[in-house]
Amino acid sequence: MIDFSLSSEQEALRARVQAFIRDRVIPREGDVRQGPHGPHDDLRRELNALARAEGLLAPHVGRDWGGLGLDHVSCAIAFEAAGYSPLGPIAMNCSAPDEGNMHMLELIATEAQKERFLRPLAAGETRSCFAMTEPAPGAGADPNLLNTEARRDGDHYVVNGRKWLITGAQGAAFAIIMARSEEGATMLLSDMSAPGIVIERILDTIDQGFAGGHAVLRFENLRVPEENVLGAPGEGFKYAQVRLAPARLTHCMRWLGAATRAHEIARDYAARRQAFGRVLGEHEGVGFMLADNEIDLHQCRLAIWHCAWLLDRGLSAGSASSMAKVLCSEALFRVADRCVQILGGMGVTHDTVVERIFRELRAFRIYDGPSEVHRWALARRALRASGAGHS
Ligand SMILES: Cc1cc2nc3c(=O)[nH]c(=O)nc-3n(C[C@H](O)[C@H](O)[C@H](O)COP(=O)(O)OP(=O)(O)OC[C@H]3O[C@@H](n4cnc5c(N)ncnc54)[C@H](O)[C@@H]3O)c2cc1C
Repeated sequence: MIDFSLSSEQEALRARVQAFIRDRVIPREGDVRQGPHGPHDDLRRELNALARAEGLLAPHVGRDWGGLGLDHVSCAIAFEAAGYSPLGPIAMNCSAPDEGNMHMLELIATEAQKERFLRPLAAGETRSCFAMTEPAPGAGADPNLLNTEARRDGDHYVVNGRKWLITGAQGAAFAIIMARSEEGATMLLSDMSAPGIVIERILDTIDQGFAGGHAVLRFENLRVPEENVLGAPGEGFKYAQVRLAPARLTHCMRWLGAATRAHEIARDYAARRQAFGRVLGEHEGVGFMLADNEIDLHQCRLAIWHCAWLLDRGLSAGSASSMAKVLCSEALFRVADRCVQILGGMGVTHDTVVERIFRELRAFRIYDGPSEVHRWALARRALRASGAGHS
């Protein structure tokens, strides 16, 4: 049966998140406590308090750990509405990388690890980071190039290596580190204050939406007790997939909300602004851009909802989430690009949020798997299905 109707709870959830974003978050978008490396933590905490008061904090986390315990389809609805403001996901504590980290901790961590790391993270008391990518020649699009080493020393692992592009490392309470141990790729939890973690620098990047920005990290004989191994040693790549399949989908949800906002701003401009004797939207060149935006937004929403539906049924969603990720990262960028064009000169100014959405969406084609890597994986599966490809 194909059923796209939302339950009354889901309709009510969407209305609550939309009202929260409109009334409490958008008015704070101009807050000066934001910079090139994201919103400052005191602003984040204030926003978290507002979301907590509305009962909207950490929608994706189980109730036992302080969240709302939403399924994936309900998250799609809430996250899209949250993404309407660049501060929305931060406010509701469902922003990257914390949201993906919470999901993974909830699924894999021991009860003691959950108490120590997940509970304060879900409550918005702390932030976290996920340290996998390394500068060349280390792990990037190809995780098998992982260079960071975790060497056994009694009941500890000793970690050495470098990571970069690590979102939120500055100001994070702890890191989930991917390193190579004798058992294979292993995930380790470490306090960021531990001796042996050095933040070399914060990168200046195209985006400004993530708290803490993106850092270059160095591990120098970082000692991690074995009780801080996340899951089983050697299973790191498997767990990365546990994190990445839903995490890339939640990026799609949030960016869908952002692109919808850009589209509405451009649509309203096209409905008012005059040129050559009529409003812009009545010129076919502009009207068709609006129509193409509607088509792209609609396709993205359908792909997200379908993948979320698969995840809710515990079905394999690897291909569906790869397809959604490629579709959304490319289609939503096209939407934002058209919006800039429709707004004319205003589109490249900071007078609307469209310029920022356009700029920040660009990076989404790279993180959580570049488009080419997803296409490559999809092609391999397609070839395998024909019986002609290599396994
Ligand atoms: C804003 C941002 C935030 C990020 N946050 C984090 C984070 O918090 N933690 C973390 O660990 N990492 C993070 N990353 C890193 C991100 O996951 C990597 O950038 C991504 O995996 C690609 O790796 P790379 O940059 O080393 O690119 P490379 O591996 O050098 O690849 C470069 C390009 O080569 C092409 N390519 C690669 N493989 C193939 C292929 N098989 N077929 C065809 N083309 C291919 C792609 O076009 C790709 O973009 C972040 C990145 C960005 C941009």
